[in-house]
Amino acid sequence: MSELIAFIGVGNMGNPMANNLVKAGKKVKVFDVSKKMIEKAKEKELDVVENLDDLITNEVTTVITMLPEGKNSKEVYLGEKGIINKVSKNCLLIDCSTIDIQTSIEIGKKASEKGIKMIDAPVSGGIMGAEKATLNIMVGGTKEAFDNALPLLKIMGKNIFHAGDLGSGNGAKICNNMSLGITMIAASESLMLAKRLNIDIKKVHEIMKNASGNSWPISVYPPLPGLIDGTPSNNNYRPGFSAGMMNKDLKLANECAKQVNASTPLANMALEIYDKFCKEGNDTKDFSAISKVVGGNAWNYPID
Ligand code: NAD
Repeated sequence: MSELIAFIGVGNMGNPMANNLVKAGKKVKVFDVSKKMIEKAKEKELDVVENLDDLITNEVTTVITMLPEGKNSKEVYLGEKGIINKVSKNCLLIDCSTIDIQTSIEIGKKASEKGIKMIDAPVSGGIMGAEKATLNIMVGGTKEAFDNALPLLKIMGKNIFHAGDLGSGNGAKICNNMSLGITMIAASESLMLAKRLNIDIKKVHEIMKNASGNSWPISVYPPLPGLIDGTPSNNNYRPGFSAGMMNKDLKLANECAKQVNASTPLANMALEIYDKFCKEGNDTKDFSAISKVVGGNAWNYPID
């Protein structure tokens, strides 16, 4: 049977990921519920199918989903017209969305009851990583399903990890993003303090990049403009990775921590800060825009 990939959810991340599969010579058909994203996919000359029913057929050999939240994955895989009722047993399901562990396990179990293999494979590396195919991909599922997915994952990412059983990919991703949410605030506080101390921000950034205060937000994705080209802070905080998504991930971390009785005071505080920021209407701004509300008096806020 010839290979056919159905890619569902071609937003900020899914679009470049699907595009990389096409560039690698794969036959890919894409679907999204958003008209705007469909137009963007057409601009990239992706093969768009306007209706999910027409996309998910017996011929599909792999389904890849890149959706916002657990409820979206649940609807697409298990809903009334759910994928697991339509694909053949040989079809491999790869959910790259960052979602709660329980939903991943539930979808995977229901798929395996039908003899279908499924992995959770959330990613990190942002839209730049998606575009350059340098994503880190964290996989939960059986070794067999991981091995089956590996050739496709290697096209979209650079470092591919088998984290453990189903749900472990999302578990690892949630731990990662918990740190990211905290360090983005930490980087913002440091750079804002430097600004208020009237020290040249570019120099402080260069120093921190090479000193012990370095972090991914400092070295790759600084929250203040004028430091690294191509970052959302240089583009009026257009996402990128939205504050709403970070808020979702910190909520996931908070729920996980409660379930296993882990103490995570900094993550709880980060959640409070992002939650307030989102409620003030900034959920569609890049998450690095949090720098507008930390480190003293807000500068240039609200964001235009
Ligand atoms: P996005 O909102 O840009 O894209 C998600 C897409 O899914 C949207 O285009 C939306 O219309 C579509 N969608 C929603 N429900 C759908 C459905 N039922 N059927 C078809 N399409 C549907 O989000 P994103 O930034 O691409 O993030 C996607 C996932 O990847 C999230 O879980 C996010 O946490 C994770 N993630 C994002 C980044 C990032 O930097 N943006 C980095 C790592 C991980």
